[in-house]
Amino acid sequence: MIYKRSSALFAEAKKYIPGGVNSPVRAFKAVGGDPIFVKEAKGAYLYDEDGNRLIDYIASWGPMILGHAYKPVIDAIIDKAKKGTSFGMPTEIETELAKLAVSMVPNIDKIRFVNSGTEACMSAVRLARGYTGKDKIIKFAGCYHGHSDSFLIQAGSGAVTFGSPNSPGVTQGTAKDTLLAAYNNLDEVKTLVQANKGQIAAIIIEPVAGNMGCIVPTDSFIKGLRELCTAEGILLIFDEVMTGFRLGKGGAQEALGIDADIVTFGKVIGGGLPVGAFAAKTEIMNHLAPDGPVYQAGTLSGNPLAMSAGLAMLTELNTNPDIFDSLAKKTAFLHEGIGKALSKKGVPHQINRFGSMVSVHFTDEPVVDFASSAKGNNERFNTFFHGMLDQGIYLPPSAFESYFLNDALTYADLEETIAAVENLNL
Ligand code: PMP
Repeated sequence: MIYKRSSALFAEAKKYIPGGVNSPVRAFKAVGGDPIFVKEAKGAYLYDEDGNRLIDYIASWGPMILGHAYKPVIDAIIDKAKKGTSFGMPTEIETELAKLAVSMVPNIDKIRFVNSGTEACMSAVRLARGYTGKDKIIKFAGCYHGHSDSFLIQAGSGAVTFGSPNSPGVTQGTAKDTLLAAYNNLDEVKTLVQANKGQIAAIIIEPVAGNMGCIVPTDSFIKGLRELCTAEGILLIFDEVMTGFRLGKGGAQEALGIDADIVTFGKVIGGGLPVGAFAAKTEIMNHLAPDGPVYQAGTLSGNPLAMSAGLAMLTELNTNPDIFDSLAKKTAFLHEGIGKALSKKGVPHQINRFGSMVSVHFTDEPVVDFASSAKGNNERFNTFFHGMLDQGIYLPPSAFESYFLNDALTYADLEETIAAVENLNL
């Protein structure tokens, strides 16, 4: 494929935007080469500035679960835009989306909308600290909860892809309140809790991790976390920015059968517009301003365009929940096909999958945490990525990311993708 215009646009972008991108993973630094500039997208396909058509497996990192430019969502945005784009005053549609979200997700009574997943997680932790009167949090190595200071401690996703899991600019004072454990390792968490008795406000976790590839929690780990939090008066925060409204109507809480104390959202909840949210039972949410003392605000929070996109998206998922099964089946088909193709070539690999999240790791060992994910063969990953791209398949440009399937993908698309793996020289 030819990427001349994308390369020229990237060169121009680099003159005015740091690294040429507004979010680091987009720059292809890990896999090498120039990033693809998108012109437009429809359904399962991206169309780039050079006229190439690509089958999309990132779905804007999750939001486009029904495919790009999904008509009911686009129509809702256009209708709303004609009536004004922001007021900084209450609108009815905020309550409509809140009511629908609360009805779909278990264990939450109230929800507050923000503008990104970062804001959602940052605010959730502030609320947990305000509610419990404690300062420390526990997070897991390789989990990513956005780029706010407290979370850039052994963070996953782009932070680790670019070698800055502990970013300069985060003060030691902030870093000391973030304690770190290995994913799927309950003993480590118990040890931290014992050593910091009565000081931990919250444990925050990606209930199915997507930022070190896809990693599924063991039953005993996730149940053990719940029990530990209850016993110790620690709030369990599920970061459902990726998993919310993707693993099912009720997200990971429903899929895993575990109740969280605070849940954060991003991606699908905004239908592709900038929306994040955090939610909990009334008792916790009432600690937020203006009812309570924990401050949190936003000029564009609850923005009417974003709310209309989110409402159209969630309405679609709520009235047609078979979508989640259909997506999981497609993902299983892809998993099996890629697995067979790689095995036939004798390429050591692991494929992790949960619902419509899946990732391929070029390693012999099971991938259960950040350390095992980091053992993947990077060179082979890069050959795999570029080999697929050359055949018109757009995969995440880093081994520390999950694929996100969208429901516009047909079995023919999946077969084309599997055939592309078969063609690779790995
Ligand atoms: N939490 C998780 C689990 C995420 O995957 C992400 C982003 N990929 C975030 C938080 C941050 O969201 P945003 O990029 O919208 O700030």
